[in-house]
Amino acid sequence: MKDNIELFTQLSEIRGITPRFITKLKKMNIETVKDLLWHFPTRYEDFSKIYKISELIPNQEATIQGIVEKIGGRRTWRRNLYLMEAEINDDTGSIRAIWFNQPYIKNILQPGRLANFSGKITVSKKDGDIYLSNPTYELVSTHTAYHETKHTARIVPIYAETRGLTSKGLRYLIKPILDELAEVQEIIPYEILEKEKLLELDIALRKVHFPKTIEEAIAAKRRFAFEDLFFLQLVNVRERLKLAKEKSASIKSDLEKTKKLIETLPFELTLSQKRSFWEILQDLEKSHPMNRLLQGDVGSGKTVVAAIAALITAQNGYQTSFMAPTEILAQQHYRTFKKTFPEFESGLALLTSSESKTWYGHELEINVGKTNLYRDIAQGKIKIIIGTHALIQKSLVFNNLALVVVDEQHRFGVKQRAELVKNKKITPHLLSMSATPIPRTLSLTIFGDLDLSLINELPKNRKQIITKAVDPENRNKAYAFIRGQIKSGRQAFVICPRIEPSQKSEETVSNNFGLWIDVKAVKEEYEKLSKKIFPDLKVAMLHGKLKPKEKEKIMREFSENKFDILVATSVIEVGVDIPNAAIMMIEGSDRFGLAQLYQFRGRVGRGEHQSFCFLFTDSTARTTKARLKSIVEAKNGLELAEKDLKLRGPGEFLGEAQAGMPDIAMKAIQNPDLVKSARESAINILKKDPLLKNYPELHNRLNQFQKQVHWE
Ligand code: ADP
Ligand code: MG
Repeated sequence: MKDNIELFTQLSEIRGITPRFITKLKKMNIETVKDLLWHFPTRYEDFSKIYKISELIPNQEATIQGIVEKIGGRRTWRRNLYLMEAEINDDTGSIRAIWFNQPYIKNILQPGRLANFSGKITVSKKDGDIYLSNPTYELVSTHTAYHETKHTARIVPIYAETRGLTSKGLRYLIKPILDELAEVQEIIPYEILEKEKLLELDIALRKVHFPKTIEEAIAAKRRFAFEDLFFLQLVNVRERLKLAKEKSASIKSDLEKTKKLIETLPFELTLSQKRSFWEILQDLEKSHPMNRLLQGDVGSGKTVVAAIAALITAQNGYQTSFMAPTEILAQQHYRTFKKTFPEFESGLALLTSSESKTWYGHELEINVGKTNLYRDIAQGKIKIIIGTHALIQKSLVFNNLALVVVDEQHRFGVKQRAELVKNKKITPHLLSMSATPIPRTLSLTIFGDLDLSLINELPKNRKQIITKAVDPENRNKAYAFIRGQIKSGRQAFVICPRIEPSQKSEETVSNNFGLWIDVKAVKEEYEKLSKKIFPDLKVAMLHGKLKPKEKEKIMREFSENKFDILVATSVIEVGVDIPNAAIMMIEGSDRFGLAQLYQFRGRVGRGEHQSFCFLFTDSTARTTKARLKSIVEAKNGLELAEKDLKLRGPGEFLGEAQAGMPDIAMKAIQNPDLVKSARESAINILKKDPLLKNYPELHNRLNQFQKQVHWE
């Protein structure tokens, strides 16, 4: 029967696996042999040495081998606990082993049987004797010399245990399958395996589950980490090669004219804004598409850089679509653009699910119906279209779209472009913008297909935001301080946390992006602040349940300083820009991630005023304190990102937009060198053989992988 199991074999076809097991596995999305074998151990326990009973030391983890002398069970005085107790002997002595609620053990560990026992050597509180507490056991057959153990007397794999599947159960399942598994085909080219000193797939697969030494386990895991990173880099490099072959509009810029344009801005661009802008202009001039990520801390001034690029694109007669993740942001960009370039007469539009209007310079603004706007866009009468996801409607056809700008949602942009270029002769240039500072290794992995422009300074005369974690007893002091600031002309944000999805109630509504927002908390806070704490000040509130028009009105009025305090949910999180707001007060700050808190804080400190951020929390947990401390101390986003990454891991850090990626990202941040060599290997092989003609297996797997990791 050997060798009749293949990776694609369904587990349900394998004799001996019970339907109950199959059901449990299915719940973990494990259906084939491959699914099961790629469910790697998360760690290992070293039970490889067999100890003599007389050598045992209290509190060590150890394996012993002995004969079951006696075994019996009884109910204990604690209700519902069934205690199984055995006496085990070897030639040096005897020791007790106990298990709770496992009465069936008696049928397996019958007196006289030889078995291994791995577990913790525990000291009895009653008599000071040592005993084995809940050890893993495994019968040892004496007549098969080559008999290999699964659970004891070896390096034992420990799996993430979920839904009633124990490590022991998984080992029990995996071992015989590996024994009967036909040799697994290698997919990484041999020359790369050799160069990078990697284990072959077939060997690595066996060693990752049942290594003889810890070194073997590490080598096996390294191979799989490399494989993922290598595939990811192949996708990245291939994407670059593909784009290099595609045609796009070449957008020319006149140096003198551009300089003049920049001089009309109300401020002088920072050096890194200029550099980024220059990099973008050079890309736009090429006849193949740009694929660039503009990364810069909150408030570093990314918008204006993108806006000038859009303007120059319009001067060349081409269209730009400028997409923001929320209506509030789209409206803000639209307003800013109008204010910054009042002479722009080539047609600017705002398009969201609730609004459609056009502007042709100065006071010439028209509310148009969607149908009319679509027509104007199709005819090329509108050159710059700012909006939300509404920009990717199928029925929205552009005349000559040449540039796509995506604010605050990097991955989304690639998808959008793919959507937009279907059946088109020219591919638009893509500029993504992000304030999430991503450590270099990670960005090379995740955005390895993008070129990077970095704005690494804030505009001149910005002051450091003074950040304080406020204890409950100092709340009134903070209120008094805020009142003083407002009296001297400033404005304040108050942010309330949202409920997690698991707690969602009727009062909780979903905003456009599936975030659950606690409207109630905002309303309560609003009532409290407007009636009790600051009855003499003007307070407004903003949450996801409001209609887009209402939201727009509130944001506009707040930016026109028509009220003093804005109580809001996290709708305010990304991008909102109100330079006169100098106070950010965050309620329940322990309930936000660090990156999110950092984004909130970035809403203030945008003008010339000294700004303040107050973090309120009722939690006294030490971990909360530590987290808040890192935001208080963080000087820049990158530093914080690194901390956040350490605290929460890349899954949380990257968020759902990067589904499929966190696992690979995890490998990447643990292994910067591996990222580098994976990238080099990918470049080398695609340089020699861009279509992977000589590597059909690799080619197939790569296509599968590309689908799996998301963005197609
Ligand atoms: P972000 O990079 O977070 O998107 P914005 O583009 O919203 O930041 O810019 C933040 C604020 O800084 C805006 O009010 C913008 O007008 C202003 N700003 C941008 N560049 C400069 C500059 N070079 N000097 C002064 N203010 C600037
Ligand atoms: Mg922004």
